[in-house]
Amino acid sequence: MGTDCLFCRIVAGEIPATIVRETATTLAFRDIDPKAPTHVLVIPKEHYADVATLAQGDPGLAGEVLATATTVAEEEGLLADGFRLMFNTGAYAGQEVFHVHAHVFGGAPLGPMLCR
Ligand code: 5GP
Ligand code: ZN
Repeated sequence: MGTDCLFCRIVAGEIPATIVRETATTLAFRDIDPKAPTHVLVIPKEHYADVATLAQGDPGLAGEVLATATTVAEEEGLLADGFRLMFNTGAYAGQEVFHVHAHVFGGAPLGPMLCR
């Protein structure tokens, strides 16, 4: 995928990001436009368009994304009060970047699950 994909370019170091955790297969960095006091994005380094493609193509890697997200939540001090993981997937969810990413939100009460 490479140069066409914003998050592949962050993995490649071509676009700067505030990285909070890196493993052999995953990367976690702060969202450029945070929607909560803590807002971190967790991605697999390998390109998958969305969580459905990732879970069907490499469920083990999907688990590694969840594990990194949990470690980030722990390191950000979110485990006691709780946090939210979100994967926007496709048009109805308003997905904007088509390299799968888990949003890790926390640090304050997060409000209702969905706007109506
Ligand atoms: P989506 O709507 O696809 O679930 O979320 C995309 C997220 O990526 C948004 O929260 C947006 O603020 C974030 N984002 C977009 N461009 C960049 C960027 O260049 N760097 C970082 N760190 N986050 C970005
Ligand atoms: Zn990508």
